[in-house]
Amino acid sequence: MPTIAAMLRQATRQLDDAGVDAPRRSAELLAAHCFDRDRVWLIAHADDAVPPAREAAFHALTARRAQGEPVAYLLGGKEFYGRAFHVTPATLIPRPETELLVERALEAFPPSALRFADMGTGSGCIALTLAAERPLWRGLMLDISPQALDVACHNARQLHVAERVPAICGDMTSPPVADSSLDCCISNPPYIAEAERPGISREVLDFEPAGALFSPAEGLGHLAALAGQAARMLRPGGLLLMEHGAGQGAAVHAMLMASPFWRDIKIHKDFAGLDRFCEAWKKV
Ligand code: GLN
Repeated sequence: MPTIAAMLRQATRQLDDAGVDAPRRSAELLAAHCFDRDRVWLIAHADDAVPPAREAAFHALTARRAQGEPVAYLLGGKEFYGRAFHVTPATLIPRPETELLVERALEAFPPSALRFADMGTGSGCIALTLAAERPLWRGLMLDISPQALDVACHNARQLHVAERVPAICGDMTSPPVADSSLDCCISNPPYIAEAERPGISREVLDFEPAGALFSPAEGLGHLAALAGQAARMLRPGGLLLMEHGAGQGAAVHAMLMASPFWRDIKIHKDFAGLDRFCEAWKKV
């Protein structure tokens, strides 16, 4: 039986040879999962022998990781804003950049009662974080994929916010949401242009849901449709927050400026200093 340390060394080499990013980190996360412990425990138990059943489980996961399958899908979860979210290949894996939209929504309003909708909710990470952070807020999770909504509803129950955040199956370009019914409309819609496909990593292209990534009209199709719908669904004085691509800031700004409905339009940057999401307030 190998020790934990030896098993990790061998797997790190295997993942490195396969061209996987951060091979040691991947190996540790997968091993921690197989032992049902955290990474600190692994280090403290580096000299322990690995029982064959755990070693076999670890080898199976390592082999899938070597093929490019994201760690989040292998573990079935990803942390977002400090909470654990279940994810499956039906949902996008939540990204740290998306936490910035959540943060903006939280600081833009007082903690008193409010209605919001998360359009294209995927795992539900945006809507459920808002509900978990703000006990008086009520939201809607909308997604076109019933499989994604199953995951979002599971996460809603885990976080004990399900009764405040119902799920609706529908298309974000024609959402079944009443006029002037929302204080805040928030979304991380699909925004990658088809032409950008060659620049997207295999890990994303081969494993994450294409419907959550790509949008027509040079990636602006969903953003434009959503802005149009938000102008209808938001109450006067309501807030629209949409994530977008690093190269789309100017186009999104121009699109919102060209519409008569918005004031105080801003493009916000992410940690890397790249344009990442827009903010616009519906005129009163
Ligand atoms: N709202 C989810 C997220 O931010 C899903 C987004 C999407 O599927 N485009 O992770």
